Amino acid sequence: MKHIKYECRGHHEYGGCQFCDGGLFACTICRGMEGSLPTDCPGVKMTQEQQDQVYAGQIDYREERGWVKPDGNGTSMGDMDIRITNNKKCLTNNS
Ligand SMILES: [Zn+2]
Ligand SMILES: [Zn+2]
Repeated sequence: MKHIKYECRGHHEYGGCQFCDGGLFACTICRGMEGSLPTDCPGVKMTQEQQDQVYAGQIDYREERGWVKPDGNGTSMGDMDIRITNNKKCLTNNS
């Protein structure tokens, strides 16, 4: 399933609210936010350990596959790391 974006109902017009002001993406279901969001939403609240591991790029959640290692095809931190590493490889190979 897709993450469900948390909407702040405070309608804070002044600075200081990271949701109204900064447009921070947080999921109301798994409680991940930005760097700790897996590619797909696990549908339940993640444990602190899972959030930490997603943030560290060690695990990712994929629909139908469950918790897996990032493979570069998703949007989690680990996937982005893999893409950055691959891009660097391409640059090195082409030079
Ligand atoms: Zn979620
Ligand atoms: Zn707010």
